[in-house]
Amino acid sequence: MKFLIFVFVAVFSLNSFSQNINPSTENIARHIKSLASDKMKGRGTGTKENDKTAKYVVKQFKKYKLAPKGTDGFYQPFTAKIRRVVVPDSLRQTNNVIGFLDNGVEYTIVIGAHFDHLGTGRQGSSKAEKPEGQIHNGADDNASGVAGLLELARYFSGNSIRESYNFLFIAFGAEELGLLGSRHFVNNPTLPLSKINFMANMDMIGRLDPNRGVGIGGYGTSAEWPAIFKNIKTDTKFFTDNAGSGGSDHGSFYAKQIPVLFFHTGGHDDYHKPTDDFEKINLNGEAGILGIEIQLIENALKLEKLKFTEVK
Ligand SMILES: [Zn+2]
Repeated sequence: MKFLIFVFVAVFSLNSFSQNINPSTENIARHIKSLASDKMKGRGTGTKENDKTAKYVVKQFKKYKLAPKGTDGFYQPFTAKIRRVVVPDSLRQTNNVIGFLDNGVEYTIVIGAHFDHLGTGRQGSSKAEKPEGQIHNGADDNASGVAGLLELARYFSGNSIRESYNFLFIAFGAEELGLLGSRHFVNNPTLPLSKINFMANMDMIGRLDPNRGVGIGGYGTSAEWPAIFKNIKTDTKFFTDNAGSGGSDHGSFYAKQIPVLFFHTGGHDDYHKPTDDFEKINLNGEAGILGIEIQLIENALKLEKLKFTEVK
């Protein structure tokens, strides 16, 4: 009887424990709602709401007991320049936010998502007819990716497993101004680039169309990806794309010959418009995508550091 009780308690606590660390639609919703609320005014680079967003990420990183790995605690400050439109204050102070899960091993997996968006339409690249003064909430682009980043940080820091790689979680600034945060990081890395296994980027993972599936780019950036993609158990449809460059922050890592993955649910009518709102996010879809991403990473944990392949 004692033994049975022990087994029951062990199985029960194991179950409730794993439920706690798996990405949840509740957490995804809470993060996207906060980051894409009107209060955050579209997280434009150089605004105080952009700083508030960075602070929000730091708060979560601390909660998950990540170590600071910026140049000023969790922050890696840099100056971003607006080039697409002419504004009097084209130089803007912003940050990357960097947290480290140190497993005491040689190589590190980088997981990233940009946290900035278009603010109130005064920094260029809005698709609205009269963007100036309108809050571009950027729920899909890219509050959804930041929510994914935070849920993966919570998962890997909370699973009480010492993985065979360290993890570096980076929320990038100034992506919308031309991948400036990720480029700043790869040119001023806070750990040697030669120690990075691969980089997984999430940019716009909130609008899963179940029939189309999620696109996963970077498949051609290492000859080992096909093996890693085998036996993924999921109800979420996905397809792969070889390209390692283009579109978002993974491109900065690819340019430094680091294998990448890029998760993206595709373009839509609200892209770069004030109507990219929380209400349109597919929360279950995003949780499914994060489930795929975790399996891919866990498959890669079993392998040696990946070798980079240039995509022709
Ligand atoms: Zn984006």
